Amino acid sequence: MYPYFLNDISKWLLIIFLIAGCDRTKKHTAGDIHQQRFLQADLEPENWMSLGRNFQQQHHTPLKQINATNADSIGLAWEYKTFTSRGKVNRGLEATPIVVDGVMYTSGAWSIVMAIDAKTGQQIWRYDPQVEGSYARKACCDVVNRGVQVWEGKVYAGTLDGYLVCLDATSGKELWKVNTLEDRNAFYTITGAPQIAGGKVIVGNAGAEFGVRGYITAYDATTGKYAWRFYTVPGDPAKKTEHAEMEVAAKTWDPKSDWKAGGGGTVWGQMAYDPELNLLYVGTGNATPYPIWYRSPSGGDNLYLASILAINPDNGKLQWHYQTTPGEMWDFTATMNIILADLPIKGKVRKVLMQAPKNGFFYVLDRTNGELISAKPFVPVNWADSVDIATGRPAINKKNSWYKDSAKYIFPGPAGGHSWPAMSFHPGHGLVYIPTIDMPFVYENEKNYQFRPGRDNMYARQISTPLPPVYAHFGKGWPEPEYEVLKAWDPVQQKEIWRLPFPGTQNGGILSTDGDLIFQGSSTGYLLVVHAKTGKLLKKIYTGTGIQAAPMSYQINGEQYVAVMAGYGGAVLFFPGEQDAVAKYKNEGRILAFKLGGKEVPLPPVREPASEVFAPPTIALETAQIEKGGQIYSGYCGACHSSFGKSHKSELPDLSNMAPVIHETFEEIVLKGKLSYYGMSGFSDVLKKEEVKALHQFLISVQKKRYEEQLGNKR
Ligand code: CA
Repeated sequence: MYPYFLNDISKWLLIIFLIAGCDRTKKHTAGDIHQQRFLQADLEPENWMSLGRNFQQQHHTPLKQINATNADSIGLAWEYKTFTSRGKVNRGLEATPIVVDGVMYTSGAWSIVMAIDAKTGQQIWRYDPQVEGSYARKACCDVVNRGVQVWEGKVYAGTLDGYLVCLDATSGKELWKVNTLEDRNAFYTITGAPQIAGGKVIVGNAGAEFGVRGYITAYDATTGKYAWRFYTVPGDPAKKTEHAEMEVAAKTWDPKSDWKAGGGGTVWGQMAYDPELNLLYVGTGNATPYPIWYRSPSGGDNLYLASILAINPDNGKLQWHYQTTPGEMWDFTATMNIILADLPIKGKVRKVLMQAPKNGFFYVLDRTNGELISAKPFVPVNWADSVDIATGRPAINKKNSWYKDSAKYIFPGPAGGHSWPAMSFHPGHGLVYIPTIDMPFVYENEKNYQFRPGRDNMYARQISTPLPPVYAHFGKGWPEPEYEVLKAWDPVQQKEIWRLPFPGTQNGGILSTDGDLIFQGSSTGYLLVVHAKTGKLLKKIYTGTGIQAAPMSYQINGEQYVAVMAGYGGAVLFFPGEQDAVAKYKNEGRILAFKLGGKEVPLPPVREPASEVFAPPTIALETAQIEKGGQIYSGYCGACHSSFGKSHKSELPDLSNMAPVIHETFEEIVLKGKLSYYGMSGFSDVLKKEEVKALHQFLISVQKKRYEEQLGNKR
């Protein structure tokens, strides 16, 4: 059987070699990621098997063909346009693709899922869940999707309209689809990726700004059968408690809380699962309404808002929890990406979990038991002075942050010190790379609280920096905001190692590599290549498309690629900055893959200048109607159609310059949802015919003013 000259030992070595060799070159079926293979992700760095590559979700690759010595020759290998075929285009892209055995799987706006040849960029299949356009109104922050999970030949995705779908990885055919929403009329959406944990697939939802109750649901990953549901906040005490943890949580809320508002605590960020500990880690979101004096008038911690939960996926029982912001009232979600690592802490290697949530503190927790190891601010913070390690509680600075009686200038603002774009962890350097934001806001209490179905229920007015003149005095005595800064952070010493400020409205998530490189996109349209040790900017590649998602890396036939989803949108869709790429170029959603010696990136079509103001209809306007319509506009329309005369910089129509045909069909559009296919929902559930008339009067008055100005300029 074996050549006679082989002795016993070498015979066994040969057998081991053959087995190992066979395994590495074995022909896999599509989407062949399973527990054993995933646990050994480092043995096959050519693949990127989850949103963060490995089970630790570190967003780091061991690949190093592209490195600090040759970064200058990086260019485009291919591009794939993520357009939908249904007219619903040009929205934000926030997912990090998965690549396994040469195939890329990812998701884009309107929950569309794609499989692409990762070498050529050719489409293999595309799945469109046909989400109703009217769901755009239920999404606080654009119709985005933050990615898929690939597992045992299947691709899992959440859809904006609240379904969990399971697709065949070979064909993209739908294998099953389950409704995850307990109330389909409430303003729930799904924008986060599902997470595989111990044979189950777990999915959360979004909607806290509108007033929903957060929860996650687990389904059997093979059959889609319901397994368990874990609520993140308690429900009305008059009703039955769903599970034991809710009794604990209820004690931290006023029994007279406004239960109609749902409480919030939604789960829409990147989760993690430790298969050795069999623990699922979940970050929970902010409260609704924001002010605790309306939500839970007697105060309390309001568990489990803004918390990290460790859950046993077999039964959905809570193992431990850590609340980052007790009594949350500043939109301080803790849904930012969770990274697992083994870190040397005081001479001992500890299994840790790291998170940099919106509240501005960097947390290192023992992930076996939830013990707080350290917490230090990674951006300027003034809502709390410090975090007590023994109790785990922040020392909240009420003077700076309690905005009930007077408005306060708060660091960080609701954009957070870090938002959903992923941070990365470089295990070789022991550093975390964080896309930080230093953007304080003024928070102002909104009076006359009453839950308002069908619209936002934040009840805190938020004024962003740079502050408008009437608010400018709030900034006196405080440091100037630095806005978007990429930071290298040492999680053991809890200190900043280097920083790279780079302009942008919201810059992207991070990929770090063993080639000593950091990749990050910017909303101004660059892909930045930065030295991991020094923070020196080695190269910036202009793409003409705002980039927010975190890049990833893979290798095919010995060639390393770096790929990123480029598309402007998300929470910043409604207020693009002057310097953002979207102000100059059309927002073409694209996947861009780079390699050494690649080409220049083709730029998207140039955005046409704003059209001349159309002559408005000549109908009689009444002051009282205009005033009433202005209020309706700010309550229902302004969140999306935010800036008169400037929205040529986004894809959303400018309501201060409507074409005659829009005026003629105004009522049909606003009440009956004539354009809902494109994302403009009908509002007949919350607006009456007379109110739509008043709204129209207001908009005509604005257009009339602009039209007259235009005539004046021409004279
Ligand atoms: Ca929020």
